[in-house]
Amino acid sequence: MNFACMSLDQFQNHFSTDSACIAYIFHTKWPEGFICPRCKHSHAYVTTTRRLPLYECCHCRHQTSLISGTIMEGSRTELRKWILSLFLFSHTTKGTTTTELSKFIKVTYKTAWLILHKIRSVIHSSDNQNQLSGSVCINSAIYGRPYNPSVHKHRQEHLLLVGSSVNEWNQFTHLKIKHVLLPNPKERHIPRIETKAFHQQHIESDTQNVEIVTGFYTPSRLRPLLIFAKQASKWINNTFHGLGPKHLQKYLDEFSYRLNLSSKNIPIFAHLVQLCIKPSSYQ
Ligand SMILES: [Zn+2]
Repeated sequence: MNFACMSLDQFQNHFSTDSACIAYIFHTKWPEGFICPRCKHSHAYVTTTRRLPLYECCHCRHQTSLISGTIMEGSRTELRKWILSLFLFSHTTKGTTTTELSKFIKVTYKTAWLILHKIRSVIHSSDNQNQLSGSVCINSAIYGRPYNPSVHKHRQEHLLLVGSSVNEWNQFTHLKIKHVLLPNPKERHIPRIETKAFHQQHIESDTQNVEIVTGFYTPSRLRPLLIFAKQASKWINNTFHGLGPKHLQKYLDEFSYRLNLSSKNIPIFAHLVQLCIKPSSYQ
């Protein structure tokens, strides 16, 4: 079923019952049928008297719940509200705010914030597991005030490293934007140790062709990367009305995630559900 084409009403109607939500999560988690997480056996006794079904492996007796290992593990929020949250998160290119989500699924602001925080944490982990490859370009940029002629960084500005894989036609094919936190908050220059750390964590080790530009006034700055950084800042400021340093990274990862999937025409909902329900499928 193509959920990406559904309206919110159609989607809500489809997932209006517990059994529809349970069936959807079961088939996403175990598309080939139940597999015991301990011994890989394929048969289980199912207990359905609880709020959520419990599966006991027929071979090793290991018990696993429908939501163990998923983003919903440990949550008391109804499955229907989780699935609706994933849909709302992916329904528009701009995403959703905590206030919008809390009104839509009728939960407290705190619960909505936690749901969105968990979704962003999954995206953040996925981003960190996927390295750039092939030819890679990196440029420094700034989130915060759009332009500050001072040599010192303003306290509302945050340094970024923007990197992308580049294909043979010079197209930027996979974007990453990472927040660089330096010990001196006024420092505007990104030191080599930080670009080296980005290189080690976010670029495949056998990549030969890596171009790094960290100067803010050099003509060799890579304009497409700066435009991505500008778009990310604009999206964060318009949708969330600005962010401090604590959670900035997760929102930058959300921006890159949306951009990377839409540039490959991959529907966000289907991809996000895989990440959140089947964490081993990070891709
Ligand atoms: Zn087992």
